[in-house]
Amino acid sequence: MKVYIDKDACIGCGVCEGLCPEVFRMTDDGKAEVIVAETEASCAQDAADSCPVQAIKVE
Ligand code: SF4
Repeated sequence: MKVYIDKDACIGCGVCEGLCPEVFRMTDDGKAEVIVAETEASCAQDAADSCPVQAIKVE
């Protein structure tokens, strides 16, 4: 699956990185980014479900 982050929506809470560090990391601008082109990690969906502003999309 592919994972996307809406950087404009991201509030930099760090939940996604905490749940799924193999897919997400926090950047110097205080937002999250996706570090893999594609993943099978189920935690990516968990992170999408847990993002407080629904900034993560999983397809
Ligand atoms: Fe941003 Fe959502 Fe990740 Fe929090 S969980 S850092 S709001 S993408």
